[in-house]
Amino acid sequence: MAIHELRIYNTLTRNIEIFKTNEPGKVSMYTCGPTVYHFAHIGNLRSYIMEDVLEKTLRYIGYDVKRVMNITDVGHLSSDADTGEDKMLKGAKREHKSVMEIAKFYTDAFFSDAAKLNIKTPDVVEPATNCIPEFIHMIEVLLEKGYAYIAGENVYFDTSKLKDYYVFSTQTEKDMLVGVRDDVSEDENKKNKSDFVLWFTKSKFDDQALKWDSPWGVGYPGWHIECSCISMKHLGEYMDIHCGGVDNIFPHHTNEIAQSESYLGHKWCNYWFHVHHLIDNGGKMSKSKGDFLTVSLLESKGYNPLAYRMFCLSSHYRKPLEFSYDNLDNITKAYDKLVKRVSELKDDGAVDNNVFDTYRLKFEDALCDDINTSMAITVLYDALKADTNDATKKALVESFDTVLSLGLLEGAKALAESGNEGVDADLEAFVLAKIEERKAAKKEKDFAKADAIRAELLEKGIIIEDTREGVKWKKA
Ligand code: AMP
Ligand code: ZN
Repeated sequence: MAIHELRIYNTLTRNIEIFKTNEPGKVSMYTCGPTVYHFAHIGNLRSYIMEDVLEKTLRYIGYDVKRVMNITDVGHLSSDADTGEDKMLKGAKREHKSVMEIAKFYTDAFFSDAAKLNIKTPDVVEPATNCIPEFIHMIEVLLEKGYAYIAGENVYFDTSKLKDYYVFSTQTEKDMLVGVRDDVSEDENKKNKSDFVLWFTKSKFDDQALKWDSPWGVGYPGWHIECSCISMKHLGEYMDIHCGGVDNIFPHHTNEIAQSESYLGHKWCNYWFHVHHLIDNGGKMSKSKGDFLTVSLLESKGYNPLAYRMFCLSSHYRKPLEFSYDNLDNITKAYDKLVKRVSELKDDGAVDNNVFDTYRLKFEDALCDDINTSMAITVLYDALKADTNDATKKALVESFDTVLSLGLLEGAKALAESGNEGVDADLEAFVLAKIEERKAAKKEKDFAKADAIRAELLEKGIIIEDTREGVKWKKA
C-alpha cells in the first residue's frame, strides 16, 4: 500500500512541505533528549508527547522509522551563551550526590514519567558521556578544516566561516540575533560574539566533576556537539527529521547545523520539527525556575497522566499551550467519558472493512495535515458515532490508539473489571462530581474535606481508590 502523503511544517524553510525521505519508506529521526539534572516538567513532556505522536504517525502510515535520542549528562551550562555552571554539577550540589548518581536517577525518572504518558522509548538512547571519542574526532576535523580555533585553551567554532550561520531566522531576526549576547558576560576568547564552545578546558574548568583527556588538554565537551555526533553515529550522514522544543532552535539547533554541515561538507538534516511551549500563568514552564509541575505531582492530585496526554493532543503542536487545572479538569471529564463509551462497545460480530478503511483514511488525513491531533481525536469521536457495529468501532479505537496512545482499551477493560459499567447514570454523575470535589480539596491541601467526601461516598456504598492511573471507584 502506498504511504499516505504527509504534509509537515519545516522550521528550516518556514513552510508546510510534503515529507520526502532520503531512502524510500525509511525515516531517520533524531530527538534532543532531556538534561538529566532534575525531573522533567510537564512542559518538557509536552514536547516528548508530540514527538511520540509524530513517530507513531510515521509508523502508522507505513514508514520504517529509526529514532535516536541523546541524554544530556554533561556540558549543558546554565546559560546558552556558554556561561555559568554545568547544569549537572548544579544538580549534584543541590542533592549532595555525584554527577553520575544524579544522571542515573533523573534518567530513570524521565523514562518512568514517559511510560506513564505512553511515550515509546526511542530505538536508540545514548548518553553524551558515552561518546567522548566521537566528539573529539569531530572537533579535530573541524579544526583541520579551519572551522574551529583554539583560544584560552578552549576550542571554539568560528561562526564567521559560514555564509549563513543563522539558518532558521529571517533577515530581521538575524539582525537582532547578531547582538543577542550583548547583555551577558562575554567570553573574551571568542573571535565573534556568536562563536560557541566545542571543548572546554581552562576557562570553565575549576569546578567540573567529569573531565576527559583530549588533544587540547583535560576538559569536557560543549553542549551542542553531542547531538551532531550521536545522531551521525546511529543515523549516518543524512538525516530526515530532527525534533525538539522551540527553545532549541537557537542556539542549540543552529549550532548543531553549523558544526555538522561544516564537518560533513554537505546538507545534513532536511526537516526540523519544533514543538511550542507549555506555558502557565508565569510564562514558559522551565526547570531553572525551580517550581514546576511534574507527572508525579499531577498523580498525587488524583489526575490520570493519560488525561494530560489527551490535553496535549487536543491542541496543535505549533501553538503555545496554556496549562491550568481548570483545563485539565475539563479534559479529565472528557477522557473518563471517552473510556466509558469505549467500555460499552460489545463484541458483536465481524469488522466492516469498508467502514474501517473510510475512518482510517480520515484519521490519516488529519494526522498528515501537519500532525493535526485535535482533528484526529474528532475522527475518533466520529467513528464512535458511526452507523456501524461495535466490533468495527472497537477495531478503529484499537487502531487509532496505536498513535494517540490514550490507553483507551486498557482503561475500558479496567472500568469493566471494576464492575461500574452498568451503573445508573445519575449515581455515576454524582460520584464523578464528588471525585472532582475531592481532587479540588486535595489541591487546596484540605485533607479533612477530602476524607469527609470519601466517607460520604462510602456511606452511599461507593469505594474510591487512588491509583497510578487516577482515582478509581466501585460499588462496595
Ligand atoms: P531539557 O531537559 O531542558 O534539555 O529540555 C528537554 C526538552 O523539553 C527540549 O526539547 C526542550 O526544548 C523542551 N522544553 C523545555 N521547556 C519546555 C516547555 N515549557 N514546553 C514544551 N517543551 C519544553
Ligand atoms: Zn540536541
